[in-house]
Amino acid sequence: MPKIQRTLPAECLECGNPRPLMGHCTHCGSTDLPQALTDTVVINLEAGGPTAEEALERLTQHVRAASEAGIRALIVIHGYGSSGSGGKIKWVVRDALENNYFSDRVDEYYFGEDLAFGSNGYHAVIKRRSSLKPHLSQFKIGNAGMTVLLMH
Ligand SMILES: [Zn+2]
Repeated sequence: MPKIQRTLPAECLECGNPRPLMGHCTHCGSTDLPQALTDTVVINLEAGGPTAEEALERLTQHVRAASEAGIRALIVIHGYGSSGSGGKIKWVVRDALENNYFSDRVDEYYFGEDLAFGSNGYHAVIKRRSSLKPHLSQFKIGNAGMTVLLMH
């Protein structure tokens, strides 16, 4: 399983405490846009067992929030596209990307299976966003359960 980032990726501009990118600050309740503390965020679309439609909506919200907070890369965990309702998430995400659903905020995207450590895809991504290196170097044979989005 890919390692999921547990630290809060942003800082509240009202009170200065760490907070999630989405929603509100749990310290002061501020709903203002937070300041990003990292340039790479991992989003697990499978968490909580959403439908494919719910997962796509979650991704849409995260792409918007990440873009506005200055996050430069998103690692989207969507599973392997196996059978069952959860298996559809991967195909909904990739279909949306291929239809330029996020093209106003997402510059380029790379499928996890093309990002095996040391591959051409891996080197292309690391060249553009070196912060992805610790996230991707663990995947010796690529990971079809994720897609990497490089933000504008
Ligand atoms: Zn706050």
